[in-house]
Amino acid sequence: MHFRSTLVPTDEASEAAIQDPATECINYYWPALGNANATGTWPIVWLPVTQIPANDTVAQQKFASMNATIPNIAPKGPLGGSLMTATYDVSADPDCWWSVTQCTTPKLQGLSADIASVPEPRTLGYGFDDGPNCSHNAFYDYLTAQNQKATMFYIGSSVSIWPYQAQRAVTDGHEICVHTWSHRNMTMFSNEGAFAELYYTLEAIKLATGFTPQCWRPPFGDVDDRIRYIASQLGLETIIWKYDSFDYVTSLPETTIQGNYDYLISNLTAGTFDTVGAIMLTHELTNFTMQLAVHNYPMLAAAFDHLVPISVAMNKTQPYVESNFTMQSFADYAAGHPKPSASNSSSGGSNGTTGGSVAGSSAGVTVQPHNAVVLVLALLGTACYL
Ligand SMILES: [Zn+2]
Repeated sequence: MHFRSTLVPTDEASEAAIQDPATECINYYWPALGNANATGTWPIVWLPVTQIPANDTVAQQKFASMNATIPNIAPKGPLGGSLMTATYDVSADPDCWWSVTQCTTPKLQGLSADIASVPEPRTLGYGFDDGPNCSHNAFYDYLTAQNQKATMFYIGSSVSIWPYQAQRAVTDGHEICVHTWSHRNMTMFSNEGAFAELYYTLEAIKLATGFTPQCWRPPFGDVDDRIRYIASQLGLETIIWKYDSFDYVTSLPETTIQGNYDYLISNLTAGTFDTVGAIMLTHELTNFTMQLAVHNYPMLAAAFDHLVPISVAMNKTQPYVESNFTMQSFADYAAGHPKPSASNSSSGGSNGTTGGSVAGSSAGVTVQPHNAVVLVLALLGTACYL
């Protein structure tokens, strides 16, 4: 028997209770967004923010306060075009441009190094990019059933139109970081555009959840010292990765992407993470990427000593500007999340998708209908997401 609500959600709890992914993705009215749009102080969702909206004097003043100190590094290509890698001095790498050199230690004085690994040995900094996906309830239900917290890198446009989905991350105890407003290459923006892409994502997350993140991840990893500086002025640490699942590449066969998950574990087995842990790029983007995350969770949890949000791995117990939300220290989280043994790996409760039995080896992921992590692709346009 199926009983599915067709009610439009009015708050986080009613949205989180929706089981049907198509219903989850029905747009709903959110008064705060309506008010922001009405006052002309809000960017258009999914369009790159090249200018601060004319009515937003608060943002204009904040940008003006930092603009004169932003390092004089030119944008690295036209928005919508290609990165100008051919004219860049790769060997000197004066701007610590990750896209061409994977540089994570800024050349500019005063900037912190990017977080590309976690300091705790045999630990995975566990997180997902490109949320909130409108239909992520089944995935978040799964994480909750595993008592697993993660770092969620949220796109401002998605937070704006799916605020209750964003609120769910806070309710479930996940950490939220910024993943820009429109998911474009950040080094291509002007100073004002780069500021606005980060600023309005912060504003959207604050509006939706009440909290202001202190971390961000550049889409496609595209960051240089100019963008790092603008982010730092907004109180944002840059989080990157050293391992990539490539789960977002739709042209790759599933076996190849699964091989990237397997490669991470083989590195663990080989001792690569005996002194410093890992961060791998994975996504809350599509049915496929979330299904694969569910499929791999038992293997990751069994292999690594700890799977933790990145703030936990960094012992950053106050992840937001606001002090009324705390994450556990690494020691406290580890004590409360013992590594599963082979005999209790299916202790996730009623979800029934634990134990590595979710995915078959054939194309696609098949689960029992009542346990299915059935999700639909969020409407993210046609861009290649990373
Ligand atoms: Zn992304």
